[in-house]
Amino acid sequence: MKINIAIDGPSAAGKSTIAKYLAKELNYSHLDTGAMYRCVAYKVLNMGICIEDEPKIIEVIKNTVIELKPDGSIYLDGKQVNDEIRTNEVSMGASNVSKLEKVREELVARQQEMAKSKGVIMDGRDIGTVVLKDAEVKIFLTASAEARALRRHKENIEKGIPSILEELTKEIEARDYQDSHREHSPLKKADDAIEVDSSNLTIAEVVNKIDEIVKQKLK
Ligand code: C5P
Repeated sequence: MKINIAIDGPSAAGKSTIAKYLAKELNYSHLDTGAMYRCVAYKVLNMGICIEDEPKIIEVIKNTVIELKPDGSIYLDGKQVNDEIRTNEVSMGASNVSKLEKVREELVARQQEMAKSKGVIMDGRDIGTVVLKDAEVKIFLTASAEARALRRHKENIEKGIPSILEELTKEIEARDYQDSHREHSPLKKADDAIEVDSSNLTIAEVVNKIDEIVKQKLK
């Protein structure tokens, strides 16, 4: 039997990394919903459209193909955009477009369609509360703002992306605030989610912890 697993939490808590490892371990598909908001923001910014122009952005989304491939690569209208969508500008842009109710409706509908056949690990902000309310396992992954900024900083350096720790910390805190205080689907722990604080845990320790929770559920 395959189930759906929802992983929510603040920016840079390690959701995508953990989801990727877990997907490999369980032979499930990983769907990074943040990448979808990032693709929309990237396209809208490139087209010079105001990030708050909801009707125009909806029109753009309707003509946009976003593909999340099993190997983790992200395609926007047929072009690979893995690195392009990870800049600070696109991160804040994603947080801004994700405030728009109709944008969320469009992307949530696509996400629900992708999870229909189960065996999906989906990470984001509203997976346990909105997108997959009936996911069999819900995890709320947290870590201190300092730990998260430092991890993202190291990741950027490894990838050769320019990175300044202080800027990153500010950007993460600004996104945390914006994502948790918006009107539509704010970031919040679902009542039935299990909270995992990864500040002092290695990736392997977090993966094992969630793996145990999944095994218990499947028993
Ligand atoms: O997870 P990631 O940092 O890539 O997400 C980028 C932005 O997209 C977040 O800051 C958040 O505003 C938005 N997002 C969202 N709902 C999701 C996933 C991401 O609002 N399910």
